[in-house]
Amino acid sequence: MINDRPLRVAIIGSGPAGMYAAGHLLESPGGTLIDGELKQIVHSKVAVDVLDRLATPWGLIRSGVAPDHPDKKRMAMIYDSIARRDGFRFIGNVQVGKDISPAELSQWYDAVIYAVGADDERRLGIPGEDLLGSNSARAFVSWYNGHPDFSNLQFDLSAERAVLVGNGNVAMDVARILFSPISALHITDIASHALDALSKSQIKEIVILGRRGPEHAAFNYPELMELADLPDTAIIVEGADLNALPRSQNHEAQLKIAALAKLCKEKIQGNRRIVFRFNAAPTALIGEERVAKVSLINKQGEFETESELSAGLVLAAIGYRGLAIDGLPFDHERGVIPSCESRVVDHGVVLPGSYVTGWIKRGPKGIIGSNKKCARDAVIAVMDDATSGLLPLEGTLCKDQALQRIKERVATTVAFSDWHKIDMREQQDGKALGRPRLKITVSSAILNMLKSA
Ligand SMILES: Cc1cc2nc3c(=O)[nH]c(=O)nc-3n(C[C@H](O)[C@H](O)[C@H](O)COP(=O)(O)OP(=O)(O)OC[C@H]3O[C@@H](n4cnc5c(N)ncnc54)[C@H](O)[C@@H]3O)c2cc1C
Repeated sequence: MINDRPLRVAIIGSGPAGMYAAGHLLESPGGTLIDGELKQIVHSKVAVDVLDRLATPWGLIRSGVAPDHPDKKRMAMIYDSIARRDGFRFIGNVQVGKDISPAELSQWYDAVIYAVGADDERRLGIPGEDLLGSNSARAFVSWYNGHPDFSNLQFDLSAERAVLVGNGNVAMDVARILFSPISALHITDIASHALDALSKSQIKEIVILGRRGPEHAAFNYPELMELADLPDTAIIVEGADLNALPRSQNHEAQLKIAALAKLCKEKIQGNRRIVFRFNAAPTALIGEERVAKVSLINKQGEFETESELSAGLVLAAIGYRGLAIDGLPFDHERGVIPSCESRVVDHGVVLPGSYVTGWIKRGPKGIIGSNKKCARDAVIAVMDDATSGLLPLEGTLCKDQALQRIKERVATTVAFSDWHKIDMREQQDGKALGRPRLKITVSSAILNMLKSA
């Protein structure tokens, strides 16, 4: 029987998908609004524990979204208001799959929703990829955003040319951050180690490689157009003649080509250059210890030629990837937890009480808002299963017992009130320097700060 106690749901991951799921679950007592209709479940209340492996919440809002996009970072205010609702609890610094197993969580909670994002990256798979100076754009983005797993990385920005492999929105973010004036970055929450390194950067040219033509460019129009604001920066297209391209039937592709042509026309001069090189793919990175050159294969119609490009920094911006969690099924090809209508499935069999949402369900695509509907689908599945008596309710722990069990594994967990202390401290430290926030980028420093607060 469960009617006399709240439905206890654990959500793993406090990024957009996890927080939207919490929001849907806690929308109103006894039910949630779905398409304007109050959908009732059998319980009078829902209690949600959101666990995150980091001490700080909000996933890629904090560690992925570019620091010069404060409007997007402000999405955190919505998640903060969800976190203040009755029935919400944040338990940070707990890694599922390492500190606690999925089987234990399934035992301790009525339902578990996995919203762990895409915590890995796709690799180029070419010789020389592991040379110094070669890394993923994901590592670079996480570094400049102060993600604690990446804050001790060092990026050598002393060479004149950087090469970005892939021309999606992450490549646009990276190019923009590399060439933004330091004064513009100073007023963002970019990690101070990155601000310092970027202020000494010698990079004069960024080559953005796309293995196909401009009609297949992966960037979106708004992200491309943000490059227009970079001062003293010329924009050049190589490997394709924008004026000679056949008119694309795809409206969006046509819009992007026209925008690129306009940028090239307007941004002719500058001490810095961003080169969009199309129909070019890297075949090897060359160097002794450090990368010095990129070998390329260039396609021109039916013909292929080889060439080399000197470069001191190579960043692969070819996509994020989900990371397998010990004890849960994983689709290694797609890099996602396999699911059917948001229910986790193992070899086609539903794991009762386990659900999935966000990038770990759909793969690493879609904007912040896409996760809202995705989270809603997962919550509908939880509710339907609760109503149909399909949740395994035996062994569920009460609120205090669940925290006690977690604390038996992780001595220092982080509560939502602790996050507010971190948040306040970061903002105060930033204010002293005329910055919106000075991120604490080392996990032990965060935990020590909380101990002494
Ligand atoms: C570089 C970059 C820039 C972007 N910029 C924009 C933008 O400007 N606008 C926009 O709309 N969208 C943007 N996006 C997309 C947006 O960030 C995603 O749609 C969204 O973050 C996906 O949400 P998620 O909750 O699935 O994953 P995430 O945001 O990655 O959240 C996953 C959470 O799970 C936690 N976690 C992972 N593993 C575990 C574990 N084992 N145990 C416990 N916790 C775990 C992580 O710490 C993290 O907090 C950007 C994405 C990237 C990569």
